[in-house]
Amino acid sequence: MTAPLDVLVVGAGPTGLALATQLRAYDTPFRIVDRSLDRARESRAPAIQPRTLEALAGHGIADDLVGRGSTTVRLRLHLRGRVLPVPLFDVGCDDTPYPFLLFLPQSETEAVLSARLAERDVTVERGTELVGARPEGGYVTCRLRRADGAEETVRARYVVGCDGAHSTVRARAGIAFEGYAYPQTFLLADLEADGLEPGCAHTFMTAAGMLFFFPLGTPATWRMIAMRPAGAPAEEVTLGLLQRIADDWTTGGVALRDPVWTTSFRLHNRGATRYRKGPFFLAGDAAHIHSPAGGQGMNTGIQDALNLGWKLAHVCRGAAPEELLATYEAERAPVGRHVRRLTDRAFIVGTGGNPVLRMARTHLAPRVAPLVLRATGLRARLFRTVSELAVHYRRSPASTTGPNRPGGGPRAGDRLPDVPRGLQRRTAGAGYHLLLTGPHHRWPQPPSAHELVTVHRLGTDSPWPGVTHALVRPDGHVGYVAGGTDLTGLRAYLARWLLSA
Ligand SMILES: Cc1cc2nc3c(=O)[nH]c(=O)nc-3n(C[C@H](O)[C@H](O)[C@H](O)COP(=O)(O)OP(=O)(O)OC[C@H]3O[C@@H](n4cnc5c(N)ncnc54)[C@H](O)[C@@H]3O)c2cc1C
Repeated sequence: MTAPLDVLVVGAGPTGLALATQLRAYDTPFRIVDRSLDRARESRAPAIQPRTLEALAGHGIADDLVGRGSTTVRLRLHLRGRVLPVPLFDVGCDDTPYPFLLFLPQSETEAVLSARLAERDVTVERGTELVGARPEGGYVTCRLRRADGAEETVRARYVVGCDGAHSTVRARAGIAFEGYAYPQTFLLADLEADGLEPGCAHTFMTAAGMLFFFPLGTPATWRMIAMRPAGAPAEEVTLGLLQRIADDWTTGGVALRDPVWTTSFRLHNRGATRYRKGPFFLAGDAAHIHSPAGGQGMNTGIQDALNLGWKLAHVCRGAAPEELLATYEAERAPVGRHVRRLTDRAFIVGTGGNPVLRMARTHLAPRVAPLVLRATGLRARLFRTVSELAVHYRRSPASTTGPNRPGGGPRAGDRLPDVPRGLQRRTAGAGYHLLLTGPHHRWPQPPSAHELVTVHRLGTDSPWPGVTHALVRPDGHVGYVAGGTDLTGLRAYLARWLLSA
């Protein structure tokens, strides 16, 4: 048997690839396996949220993604023949370098993540399936089966299940996946559509439900998603069926052709009852699945991975106590629950069949939507939620507010806003980043000389009046924030979460 690994990453979808990227940044000994021989070639999740781009920027990946995708997609709501522009990304986005929804097929996102790993000499072991995992003697003994049937046994200190909705790791760890399936069936097609305003995401709201067209670019110009009409036979997804739906729901004018990928699926809303059990962790679809409303699924998975990766890396190299790993579930499980609730509500409003909802979609929405869209405060809140910029870990044991902290600025647990512009980029390297504000003589000695803490003197231009020092975690969230010049609290925070080598 080979020497034990620190981490075995099971699954090389977007979640596993993001986790591997972060583990590689810390030189953590790990392997990443995936049972399929090739990465997904279907478009699947077409949208990347601003917070995901921020979180990936430190790995030099965000610019590649932005370069390949479209940042100028506009949203259009079609209500009984009226077309309403939805200006969602024009308010509430002053503090991010990515004030847009990036449209890029998931296959391209995975290609960029895979290419970055290859550049850093990481091989994704494809055609390699985890078929058994048993904790024994301080390690998990894992059985890996390759496509030719050959088996290998490896030992790993931690096993992370990034292996999707039917997770083997979840089953081996004995973690339940609770929730429900929605009764509706959905149809999906990547195809060409004539008659739609290009460069826009279109939502047609009707009594029967919602029909979406998202601009893809590749492998086809449009992604169409629709609910299979009630009573329609479970026939194959043909161009004829799709055209019938488009005709009914758009009242004509949209001509479909050249489908390159069609599928039908049912949606579930389920969550793992735990994100960690002993040496097993779950991330991405293995931990939560829900409707695609709002484009949250893949984004939440990538952010799970980026919350977990540095914690595993720090613990494995002896730079942090085991206790740090408990904060993964404490921080990410509430996010998963929130996303499931949010997408469930959006799904029911968009597809619910009861007469009140049907009437709301056809009669109320055309009148109310323009008023709602004019309310900039509401739109800003909606943007912060959908973009995932509002995700915070304020209740985490790893979020601490020190003395003399004034009311303004980010709170402990919030993501670090990009104010002044470029601050996120400056603090994107591996490890913690300590921000000190004020004149140089205020901090004659750097309060930490740990190799995993980079000190930044921001000078007199404190971005947040009254905040004098803040510690930014490796995932871009504020771990500690305080005013005044007493560093006792900061030192205690560092002593708790960062062990000397
Ligand atoms: C048809 C479709 C449309 C979608 N549309 C959207 C959308 O519009 N918006 C959105 O946000 N999301 C959408 N999603 C969901 C999105 O694709 C997922 O949220 C995302 O892929 C989750 O990434 P993941 O890495 O967690 O899991 P996955 O992408 O499922 O990757 C899991 C990987 O684990 C591997 N694996 C499984 N078991 C094992 C094992 N035992 N050993 C080794 N490897 C294993 C699999 O081969 C797979 O590559 C869609 C999904 C589908 C299928």
